[in-house]
Amino acid sequence: MNVLAVTSEIFPLVKTGGLADVTGALPKALARFGIRTHTLVPGYPSILALARLHPPLMEFDSLLGERATLRHLEIDGLSLFVLDAPSLYERAGGPYVDEHGHDHPDNWKRFAVLSLAGAEIAAGALPGWKPDLVHTHDWQSALTSVYLEHMGSDVPVVLTIHNLAFQGQYSSSLLSQIGLPPEAFTTECMEYYGDISYLKGGLTTAEHITVVSPTYAREILSSIFGMGLDGVLNARMDRLQGIVNGIDTEIWNPATDPYLPHRFDLKTVRNKRHNKAVLLERFGLEPGEGPLFSAVTRVTWQKGMDMLAEVADEIFHFGGKLIVLGQGDHDIQAALQETARRFPGRMAVSVGYNEPTAHLIHGGSDAIIQPSRFEPCGLTQLYAMRYGCVPVVSRTGGLSETIIDANDAALSARAATGFQFHPVRAEGLRQALRRAAETYRDKRKWARLQMQAMRADYSWDRSAERYAEVYTRLTGEAAQRAS
Ligand code: ADP
Repeated sequence: MNVLAVTSEIFPLVKTGGLADVTGALPKALARFGIRTHTLVPGYPSILALARLHPPLMEFDSLLGERATLRHLEIDGLSLFVLDAPSLYERAGGPYVDEHGHDHPDNWKRFAVLSLAGAEIAAGALPGWKPDLVHTHDWQSALTSVYLEHMGSDVPVVLTIHNLAFQGQYSSSLLSQIGLPPEAFTTECMEYYGDISYLKGGLTTAEHITVVSPTYAREILSSIFGMGLDGVLNARMDRLQGIVNGIDTEIWNPATDPYLPHRFDLKTVRNKRHNKAVLLERFGLEPGEGPLFSAVTRVTWQKGMDMLAEVADEIFHFGGKLIVLGQGDHDIQAALQETARRFPGRMAVSVGYNEPTAHLIHGGSDAIIQPSRFEPCGLTQLYAMRYGCVPVVSRTGGLSETIIDANDAALSARAATGFQFHPVRAEGLRQALRRAAETYRDKRKWARLQMQAMRADYSWDRSAERYAEVYTRLTGEAAQRAS
């Protein structure tokens, strides 16, 4: 089966979060099921440098008025279609923001063009290749199914929501500029409180919708987690499914990780302490015996980083230390930095995005803190477990189903893998940190917890099978419709 994936991020070429990890890993996991994925991505500078070494596959004369060249690039087991449209994607900054952190003002056009290119390829624009199914991801490629519907195409589309908080909402005056007819401006399609919503357009026109955990699939049907789209999601409940994310166990493998000064596996997990020493030194923290807690995350309200700034002192009462790696909201960053100033030698904050440091933090920390207010799946806790780093998490979304709380029953059943708290408030986090620090004092108990976390299997095998089932069902239905 041939699949066209359309995405705005893909690891290892361009990543701002979990979306890239998933789009980078899933094609490789699906290959085992006989599914060959080509992934359409924007030609950002980091991708163009490689893609332009190859001859063009085809030219688009006009995608919403822009000329574009389609190029092919094979990298790290991925097959990419790169949309080389310099006026839209060849610029400084990240995929969504400029070098000063401001949204690119034409994101509405950049991702409409990406989606339109996806739809045209799906409808047969590329000589000699046509997909059996299209897989879109988040609002940035959600318009693909809207375009396909208006083209009268019958190619089935799966839309995966990685985070409902980002919806691609723009003024309805842009409708004609993104090449869609007035009929698209209805509540049944993409009209959203007088504006247009790219994500809503995808939700109403995709054949099937997946979100990245079964718990989040239930949560988003409520007004609290539905972010204004719960009505639409309820209407499509029969086509909505949660499939938990996996992790790329080759990239995230403590036994082979090139970013770890000291590698380890289940048998040599004691080596972690050498990484811990390196980590403490690198972050200018005092050496010592207490637990090292860390957070690797976007620094946002969603991720509960404001709560962490509020209760970090709890960690230091127990002789613990804290490292935060992340970037995002300036006020929350400042609050974390201020706390670090009050506790020199015990807390360090690194503002930025750094993949090698993220690996080292997992390889050297005792525990990872993830106090998210909502969390569609969460990958950090999965990487942490594999690296023997015990997660301390809020009980929401994917966190609630991937972590088993270390209550007495779970501990004695040798099933526990971390600490959960609920409701998601600063006081709850404080108590969870206290529980973790107390457990850490009991070395045998902690070691058991760590081993159980390391044994948890979150490889892609099972989840890729779920996607393969969805693809098979949808292509079968499409074939029936055509016959
Ligand atoms: P989200 O996609 O909501 O940000 P996830 O937990 O699903 O959250 O995925 C986050 C991904 O981004 C993980 O791979 C994590 O390691 C990575 N990440 C987040 N912040 C940073 C950072 N500051 N430096 C390096 N990697 C980071």
